[in-house]
Amino acid sequence: MSEKESFRCKLVTYDEIVEWTRDLAKKIRACDCKPTVIIGLTRGGWVPARLLCDLLGVKKLYAVKTEHWGVTANPDGKALLTQELNARIDDEEVLLVDDITDTGESMSIAKAHLQDMRPGVLKTAALLHITRSTFVPDFYSVEVPADGWTWFIFPWNRNEDLRTLLPKTLYEEKGEADIQKAFREQFQIDVPLEDIRTTLEDLEAAGTVTRAGEKWTRA
Ligand code: ADP
Repeated sequence: MSEKESFRCKLVTYDEIVEWTRDLAKKIRACDCKPTVIIGLTRGGWVPARLLCDLLGVKKLYAVKTEHWGVTANPDGKALLTQELNARIDDEEVLLVDDITDTGESMSIAKAHLQDMRPGVLKTAALLHITRSTFVPDFYSVEVPADGWTWFIFPWNRNEDLRTLLPKTLYEEKGEADIQKAFREQFQIDVPLEDIRTTLEDLEAAGTVTRAGEKWTRA
């Protein structure tokens, strides 16, 4: 039997995303900021950035990307900028957008990169801000205290996150209902059986889990 990992998660709905993004837009308007360019920090910042374009009437939407390479690819394990901005932003009022600041590394790197491109104004925004982050965005909707640290399962990342979490429930072999129970116990989330079945199918196809009758185990 292997280790039983456990941490708090939250399944975020699209309604919550809309609510947080509207709140963010209200805060941005209230400070008299009128971005002329919005830049989504991908992948997490894409949907919020697009929604903010709609709410604030911004036509120019661009992207930069940061990635976490982990210990094998990058000895110090830091986030790296893997896609630079391919548009001019000199003299523009730029808003850089991400879904969440947790360590804050991605925002710091992306902001430094954009600063080098001499924008007129450069502000940052995130839907959620965890107070342990070394980077504090100019605007955010929800503040999450460091001791309330949570893994937020964003609706655009739901399948990917479930594929990551489900194998952690298989520290011993289980049927589908017991996997659902383990999601509650280990991660505090209610995952519909339908989603558990879809995730198991994906994981089986990838060779990550195997089935023996009604029971599933890690491959
Ligand atoms: P890091 O640079 O260490 O990965 P960041 O705070 O810069 O950490 O976050 C980078 C991205 O990782 C976020 O935009 C988000 O998509 C994802 N992420 C980080 N922390 C969380 C979390 N607690 N819940 C959900 N997604 C997260």
